[in-house]
Amino acid sequence: MTIAMPKPDQEVLARRAAIVDALRAIVPGEGVVDATREMRVFETDALTAYRQLPLVVVLPQTVDQVAAILHYCHAQGIKVVPRGSGTSLSGGALPLEDGVLLVMSRFNRILDIDFDNRCAVVQPGVTNLGITRAVEHAGFYYAPDPSSQIACSIGGNVAENSGGVHCLKYGLTANNVLGIELVTIEGEVLRLGGKHLDSEGYDLLGLVTGSEGLLGVVTEVTVRILQAPETARALLIGFPTSEEAGAAVAAVIARGIIPGGMEMMDRPAIHAAEAFVHAGYPLDVEALLIVELDGPAEEVDHLLAAVEEIARANGASSTRISTSAEERARFWAGRKAAFPAVGRISPDYLCMDGTIPRKALPYVLNGMKALSERYGLRVANVFHAGDGNLHPLILYDAAHEDELQRAEDFGADILRLCVEVGGVLTGEHGVGIEKRDLMPEMFDEDDLRHQQRVKCAFDAQHLLNPGKVFPVLHRCAELGRMHVHRGQVPFPDLPRF
Ligand SMILES: Cc1cc2nc3c(=O)[nH]c(=O)nc-3n(C[C@H](O)[C@H](O)[C@H](O)COP(=O)(O)OP(=O)(O)OC[C@H]3O[C@@H](n4cnc5c(N)ncnc54)[C@H](O)[C@@H]3O)c2cc1C
Repeated sequence: MTIAMPKPDQEVLARRAAIVDALRAIVPGEGVVDATREMRVFETDALTAYRQLPLVVVLPQTVDQVAAILHYCHAQGIKVVPRGSGTSLSGGALPLEDGVLLVMSRFNRILDIDFDNRCAVVQPGVTNLGITRAVEHAGFYYAPDPSSQIACSIGGNVAENSGGVHCLKYGLTANNVLGIELVTIEGEVLRLGGKHLDSEGYDLLGLVTGSEGLLGVVTEVTVRILQAPETARALLIGFPTSEEAGAAVAAVIARGIIPGGMEMMDRPAIHAAEAFVHAGYPLDVEALLIVELDGPAEEVDHLLAAVEEIARANGASSTRISTSAEERARFWAGRKAAFPAVGRISPDYLCMDGTIPRKALPYVLNGMKALSERYGLRVANVFHAGDGNLHPLILYDAAHEDELQRAEDFGADILRLCVEVGGVLTGEHGVGIEKRDLMPEMFDEDDLRHQQRVKCAFDAQHLLNPGKVFPVLHRCAELGRMHVHRGQVPFPDLPRF
């Protein structure tokens, strides 16, 4: 969907020229892009249904430049949209017509690898996979592994609190980031956390992780690195129904086994991925689980046998264990390529992202089936089954009138279904513009106002990434003081001695 731009008048053009000049004074050389043709590559992120040319693009290279840009924009009341690699699926990095697009991709250096403290200090434009590549020679890796890891930046991962197939056991980005450097909209440089495990004061690091570019611009990230497990093996398990696969997932967790990864795909996703990657998936099943066990070899063998037995008891029709590192990588390659694979069987798709309690899976799957029929659109499903994070891929063709609208309405109903069963609107892709108008499905006006008060503490003029996350923006002065009511947060009586 292209948002139409009105013809700019002379005053607007003069203001834009002044902004471009000011940015060029801060970032000399090729760091400012203002030609329409060259800005086209930045007009969308991975939510490609939405496109918008920014006012101007700036690609700083130093923290001082970022601070100076933000200080200038704050003083002039200019909006700023931070961007990493532009792989957001929720439109978080969609530019604004009257905003500067601040692209962090030139911050691409690994600053320090500290094996003694098991951490690495990196610039935010370093790709997720780039961190593992930098430490794997010593047997280390960075655990959160979004399927986009070859391209997405660690700054974007922090902003979205990204996850991946191995986050069930090793945690999301929030659990693997130890410190960040953040520049506020006023140009102030803050350091939150560091190499140590805990930091003094409020957990501002936790607050900023997942804040979708609304609270500040991340200019440095300290991440935890882990020693690679002695052994890792993956198990493919085919099921005649998704319900049985869902029951097996619940039974594995109930047994106290936390696999390194536990992913589910339905028939359309299995077929699309197999045709694309030739991972060796069974094609005569309705649902496929990929379960990875890692640790000492003996423990892995024991757990593989236990998971296989649980799967058989829950109706599994086939099992296959990887016998080499290459085969294990191939099993995962199919899952990790599921989104582009689905792109081969449909001109367009919307990737949804919601989270539900695991036990609600059969109910939600049936609900999605009914919605698919009602909207007349196919859906392929991939899930982070272990943690209940769903990624229904709604297939549509934007060339057909109203299909995008139908796909969006279908997606909104899926997310409503997630909330109805006690789940949440997001898993790992953020709210962005995609789910912004659904926020009231989950939060009442009071909740949303409280969340905006936090935003106001960092950015009282709403200059950082406005139009994302919040369906309505209130002036900070109108929000008043934050009150915590007795009814909302229980104040326990103090213990008496
Ligand atoms: C094929 C495919 C597969 C994917 N698989 C996964 C997956 O498995 N798990 C998952 O979690 N996500 C996945 N994603 C979504 C996406 O890759 C992640 O959200 C990722 O973290 C975005 O990083 P980015 O560098 O591309 O950020 P961008 O898209 O550029 O920006 C995302 C958000 O972060 C903000 N931002 C970016 N950099 C900074 C910064 N330095 N400071 C402050 N704010 C910043 C932006 O304003 C925006 O709100 C997938 C996407 C695709 C296309």
